[in-house]
Amino acid sequence: MTLPEETRYQLDRAVEVFRSSQRCVVFTGAGISVPSGIPDFRSAGSGLWNKFDPMEVASLTAFRRRPEVFFNWLEPLAVNILNARPNPAHIALADLQKAGRVQTIITQNIDRLHQKAGAADVIELHGNIDRLLCLDCRLDFPLENYRLSWLEDHTLPRCPGCDALLKPDIVLYEEMLPEDAWEQAEALCRQADMIFIAGTSLEVMPASSLPMEGYYNGARLVIMNLSRTPLDGLAAAVIPMDVAEGLPLLARSVLA
Ligand code: ZN
Repeated sequence: MTLPEETRYQLDRAVEVFRSSQRCVVFTGAGISVPSGIPDFRSAGSGLWNKFDPMEVASLTAFRRRPEVFFNWLEPLAVNILNARPNPAHIALADLQKAGRVQTIITQNIDRLHQKAGAADVIELHGNIDRLLCLDCRLDFPLENYRLSWLEDHTLPRCPGCDALLKPDIVLYEEMLPEDAWEQAEALCRQADMIFIAGTSLEVMPASSLPMEGYYNGARLVIMNLSRTPLDGLAAAVIPMDVAEGLPLLARSVLA
């Protein structure tokens, strides 16, 4: 692959930062799953929200008051995610983790593709699509149990104990991020000496404040994203590449 000179230079810098780091934490966003065919469902302009107002459908209020609208929105997304396969970016990160170059992957994604690629240590800031939660009993159930009844026969998923509608264990608008995941992620970013940011333009708060917190506690930032991010000016290297192309290239050099 022929790369522009500046991109090659930034890649080489990124490799140096990787090689001289002991505690590298990775931070990923929707961009890393786009090559797997999963649209960036939170960002405006992704195409998905041209049809819906996110606050109207993807919020806790919508789930409670207009569950049909909520589940109509979620259903195709859930089917899409369940059928998606990890792409070379997920696999490269899992390889870096297996080789001990990456400690933990913190993700804003709900699709579990990091785990499907073989990553072991993953913190999910926005929950994941694999579980359904009863808000009354506080019990959760695997989505797999409802795959036929909900995703194929379109019967809304209900709690076997109390018959309440089950909420997917993903963070909706109006909901807080899960406290445990947040605290772990924060602690990791504070002790990291490197944070590698991939496939996110760092626009979703409060999650995007984590790399910033790492930076102010001494971590060097390396960013791989097609569009610019607010932290580019602070980063030791900024690689303007598609993650599915750039990450395998980077991982090969780091592991060489
Ligand atoms: Zn229940």
